[in-house]
Amino acid sequence: MKLVILGSGTCVPSLKRNAPGYLIEVEGLNLLVDCGSGTLLQLEKAGRSYRDIETVFITHCHPDHISDLMPLIHALIATPEYTRKKPLRIVGSSLVGEYLDGCIWGLLKRPDSFSVDFYRVEGKMEFHHLTLYSAKTLHSEDSFAFRFEHKGHSLVFTGDADYSESLVELCTGADLLVADCSYPHELKRKGHLTPRECGIVASQAGVKHLILSHLYPTKYSDKEILEECKREFNGRISIAEDLMEIDLI
Ligand SMILES: [Zn+2]
Ligand SMILES: [Zn+2]
Repeated sequence: MKLVILGSGTCVPSLKRNAPGYLIEVEGLNLLVDCGSGTLLQLEKAGRSYRDIETVFITHCHPDHISDLMPLIHALIATPEYTRKKPLRIVGSSLVGEYLDGCIWGLLKRPDSFSVDFYRVEGKMEFHHLTLYSAKTLHSEDSFAFRFEHKGHSLVFTGDADYSESLVELCTGADLLVADCSYPHELKRKGHLTPRECGIVASQAGVKHLILSHLYPTKYSDKEILEECKREFNGRISIAEDLMEIDLI
């Protein structure tokens, strides 16, 4: 199982960090977690193709996490000399379903050659060779954290989240935790984690490797962010970079 970070940033435009998007490659399958603006281009930069995506998991409906979903479907429909046959699966809250029906199918004609199938996220689901567990997060009405398990390995995405016991529980013993690390504690805003809180979650959950992502541009350096986190967590910590690739197995 491999993780490719397509976007380690937020809704704020940045030349360094694209909006959120993560690619999971597992046994020949290609799965996206979030699909913020620019994700399709980031896939190209990573040497991957939008055509290979089987399933898109959306943590919540904020534009920085869902904006490229329509361009993805549009590209799959409109690419010359290409006919997609396999279905595209979209997994998310009921609001994601409403976004598909109300916005995407309001502007795009449903494809003839393949189906776009929506699955509303619930406690435990099986997708391909993976098991997905989810937990509601303290961020927005429809925000979820996702935990993927495959052959004894686990990968958790907090999505956008504030500290909660249910988040710690979802992260328990994870090999890799990709955490919302929006801004240092001095700039704390409700609904997002800070480096200190990411460290607390990772420490309480016994995570093996913590990746700080969803980073807003601030005056604080990566080193300062890392230092703040290290005070709470003495395991492995990385700061996410766009196009970074991490092998889980
Ligand atoms: Zn966000
Ligand atoms: Zn959000």
